[in-house]
Amino acid sequence: MTDNDRYDVVIVGGGAAGLNAGLQLARARRRIAILDTGSPRNAPAAHMHGFLSRDGMPPAALLEAGRAELARYGVRPIAARADEIIRETGGAEAPSFTVRLAGGASMRTRRVLVTTGLHDELPDLPGLREGWGRHVLHCPYCHGHEVRDEPVGVLALQPHAVQHALMIRQWCPDLTLFTHTLDPSPEDRTRLAARGITVVEGEVKRLVADDAGLHGVEMADGRVVARTALFVQSTLVPRDGLLTALGCELGEDGLVRTDGMGRTSVPGVSAAGNVVDGHAQVIVAAAQGSVAAAMLNGDLVEEDVAAAVAETVGAVG
Ligand SMILES: Cc1cc2nc3c(=O)[nH]c(=O)nc-3n(C[C@H](O)[C@H](O)[C@H](O)COP(=O)(O)OP(=O)(O)OC[C@H]3O[C@@H](n4cnc5c(N)ncnc54)[C@H](O)[C@@H]3O)c2cc1C
Repeated sequence: MTDNDRYDVVIVGGGAAGLNAGLQLARARRRIAILDTGSPRNAPAAHMHGFLSRDGMPPAALLEAGRAELARYGVRPIAARADEIIRETGGAEAPSFTVRLAGGASMRTRRVLVTTGLHDELPDLPGLREGWGRHVLHCPYCHGHEVRDEPVGVLALQPHAVQHALMIRQWCPDLTLFTHTLDPSPEDRTRLAARGITVVEGEVKRLVADDAGLHGVEMADGRVVARTALFVQSTLVPRDGLLTALGCELGEDGLVRTDGMGRTSVPGVSAAGNVVDGHAQVIVAAAQGSVAAAMLNGDLVEEDVAAAVAETVGAVG
């Protein structure tokens, strides 16, 4: 393999963050590859909301449009999983990496951008995973407007559930908090009551749903509380194994730390989107990818200038 086989940037992950980064880098005339396993986080949802000019578009259609734009610059994401990123040089030397793919192939690259997203972990409660993204929802900014004024519930899976319910009340006046395994404090109960949020005590057994949607929430004692949508807070598990294996430092929140421009603590390694920011909606993830790409290009320009100067000085000397 020669330096001509080397990419400027390999992007791991072809969701909103990775594709927007790819667009910027392709337009900057960089030689790039985008690797993607094709499981964007919002795939279970029929529509995507809150993205100016794309509100209500199916998530897959956004990515398809992005891939079509990239194709105009000669870039086509590769359906492959990156299993490992190996740092070949670093320190005083310009960074360079080998990306190993599942199946054994590998790619050499000057920089890497990881945009692998996250996994939403849900408890093993019958109906929860099956309804995820349809009538089991997590983000009121994504789907609150679609269930406004409907009889809606919030399932308490973590202490923040009370705050989640108080937020969703903005969209849904007929709101029930299922305490499940949580015991809200007296102060929290006062806040919930003041906003007219009903509190249903006891453990939830399962969701009563079919193809038409959610009908109710069945409690352990057999009661069924009629609801048409249920909000839950999943546990956000970043797909950051490639980054942590490279030694990227974590922040206090346990996520790989970036400097706001996508750069991690390891030179030459950037990250953007949900892998480093669980709360980034699509438009934010795309913007983070765009910023990270511009920083990587600037960094490569500096490296190219330094190499050209060294060559010129060498030739003169
Ligand atoms: C049900 C649901 C509905 C949502 N609705 C909305 C909404 O309406 N509006 C909104 O703004 N946001 C919504 N979101 C949030 C949205 O999903 C995220 O903002 C967005 O997906 C983040 O983009 P990303 O590029 O960071 O990650 P992703 O979109 O998850 O993309 C990551 C990509 O990397 C790939 N990948 C992972 N590991 C590897 C690997 N090792 N090698 C190669 N490829 C890899 C994955 O297959 C995936 O394609 C929703 C989320 C959920 C769960």
